[in-house]
Amino acid sequence: LNEDTEMNLKVAKFSKQIVKDYKAHPIVIQKSASVYDGIVQIFLEDVGTLYAVDQNGHLAGVISRKDLLRAAIGNKNLDDLPVSVIMTRMPNIVTIKQEDTLMDAAKKLIQNRIDSLPVVREIDSDSHTYEVIGRITKTTITKAFLEMIER
Ligand code: ADP
Repeated sequence: LNEDTEMNLKVAKFSKQIVKDYKAHPIVIQKSASVYDGIVQIFLEDVGTLYAVDQNGHLAGVISRKDLLRAAIGNKNLDDLPVSVIMTRMPNIVTIKQEDTLMDAAKKLIQNRIDSLPVVREIDSDSHTYEVIGRITKTTITKAFLEMIER
């Protein structure tokens, strides 16, 4: 095969990859936890985004590094401030499903200018009830792309 054909096949293959095969473990925090605990957790887990869940374990919000920084600048008592106050909450969370493609995920990341997407299983769409089962980040997409191209 010539080089162009080979590259086209690789790109075609990349565009068929599904979220299920690449998703990482989601790092979750209770929405009642403090901003202080959120900051500790984001360092300990070495991630850029935390997913907040309610008492039932359902997705309630997303907390990014900048959300935590913003909260830390303006507030003295980070122990008393729950992450639920600073998170981006449902129904404004952009999510992705296991069966969706990595291309779908890449588009959502770029269009919404965000770093990560919670991978969710829908429990009840009317009430925006979702279970978080993974995460897709810009790193996930970059890794998958390299694997496809270099193989
Ligand atoms: P950072 O804020 O650290 O640069 P992001 O670019 O991912 O990280 O986040 C930008 C803003 O978008 C933050 O306020 C964050 O809460 C929000 N955000 C991040 N991921 C999502 C998502 N999947 N759906 C909706 N909002 C999100």
